[in-house]
Amino acid sequence: MNDGQVAFERFIHLDSTKRGELCMAQRILIIEDEQPIAELLEYALKQEGYETGIALTGGDGIRLAETERPDMVLIDWMLPDCSGIDLCRMFTRKYRMPILMLTARSRTDDKVQGLEAGADDYITKPFEMREVLMRIKAVLRRVERCSGQEKPLSLPGGLCIRPQEMSVTLNGRPVELTPREFELLLYLLHRPGRVLTRAMLLEELWGYEYAGDSRTVDTHIQRLRKKLGSTVNIETVFGVGYKYVP
Ligand code: CA
Repeated sequence: MNDGQVAFERFIHLDSTKRGELCMAQRILIIEDEQPIAELLEYALKQEGYETGIALTGGDGIRLAETERPDMVLIDWMLPDCSGIDLCRMFTRKYRMPILMLTARSRTDDKVQGLEAGADDYITKPFEMREVLMRIKAVLRRVERCSGQEKPLSLPGGLCIRPQEMSVTLNGRPVELTPREFELLLYLLHRPGRVLTRAMLLEELWGYEYAGDSRTVDTHIQRLRKKLGSTVNIETVFGVGYKYVP
């Protein structure tokens, strides 16, 4: 039995023995081939009351995501059998789970690439556990906030948004948005005509003083524009930020 399988068994074991008593616990899947890092993360997450599972390969990660449907996934960029970025793309498309990318790569281009692949956030190694936990909580809080509110919204042009289901359709066809994109869209729609600065969006939607640069916001806005076409008019306010114009 290889390490990946050991981790897989452990996740199942945890699931069958503790699921009942921890039914409210949120479940986080850690896909990370460096076992000491994976175990450190697992330990810290358990201390915070989360349920966790470890996959040491991308393949095991896919199997666990499929069977366990975690509430969130942490994905390492460099995995032995696949690229974490490809995995992130696949997860975003297929499961729409919130994703935090973990990586030793800290160049801005790498961060942007991670966010473009659908990651909700990004953290570079070596990381401080406190920061990882804070980002995980921020992502989960946003997802909860998004999914627990409001009636469906219909916009001219055939766009329909169902906050409860976190789903968007355009002329009846589903539009796949990541949780972060979804929240950004709702945030904009609720503030028509108002100029929103990048700093404001980072603070409100990313939930903390974001260490990255404002390209994070730009990347998400670009993705929204691409996915929604002309149905949602998001104007650039040069040098400041963005504005939704109904
Ligand atoms: Ca790695």
